[in-house]
Amino acid sequence: MRKDRESDTAEPRTMDQDPVVQGILKAISQKRLKPGTKLGEDALAQVFETTRIHIRQVLAHLVSRHIVTHFPNRGAFIYRPTVQEARDIFAARRVLETATVNAVMDNLTAEARSMLKRHIGRESGHDRNDRWASLALTADFHILIAELAGNGVLLDFAKELMLRTSLAIATFEVPGSPDCSPDAHPVIVDLMLAGDRAGALSAMNRHLDEIEHRLHLGATAPDPDDIVAIFQDIGVGPISRGAA
Ligand SMILES: [Zn+2]
Repeated sequence: MRKDRESDTAEPRTMDQDPVVQGILKAISQKRLKPGTKLGEDALAQVFETTRIHIRQVLAHLVSRHIVTHFPNRGAFIYRPTVQEARDIFAARRVLETATVNAVMDNLTAEARSMLKRHIGRESGHDRNDRWASLALTADFHILIAELAGNGVLLDFAKELMLRTSLAIATFEVPGSPDCSPDAHPVIVDLMLAGDRAGALSAMNRHLDEIEHRLHLGATAPDPDDIVAIFQDIGVGPISRGAA
């Protein structure tokens, strides 16, 4: 009954588990791969010791996930969100994370409580000077809440939004600023564990507002759909043609 169109691409769910996909996503979430970075097929095939066909499948999948953009004849690049998309990402996160916090609080089992506490323990015990590791750890907090919400679809959305947030932050952040304010997560967890639903929801929303407000999304930012700026950013210039 399914339409027979999966012949040339793997199932999206399977591709999410692909080790090359995972490797690229990890590098993005740790801000090592920046927006606008070219993803050369040969280089990636070499890094992961796989075929170019495999790399092409991976890149096509990441294009479908809004993580990579592909320009004909130029290749694949880490996606660079526009100002409007950055705002939309945070608006979507406020909706989604309101839902996940609510769902967790609807069913706050002993196991969920201990996992939340354990995560906060890991964050506070972590060496904050290790920027890369702490970035991944603070993103994990939001993913953990989505996992505890017990809805696989919400979890998929949460994972995608966290990655797109990483791209937005990497594109628009003021240099040197942290992703998640270090003290926000324990406050949110304390309110959740105390059963203060309204307090937890407003703390989460405040936290997302703070992250968004640290970005340079001001009036001087380029037009949301300014593809000229996008092409300049990735070093794509005029096509040199013969007399045509
Ligand atoms: Zn956070």
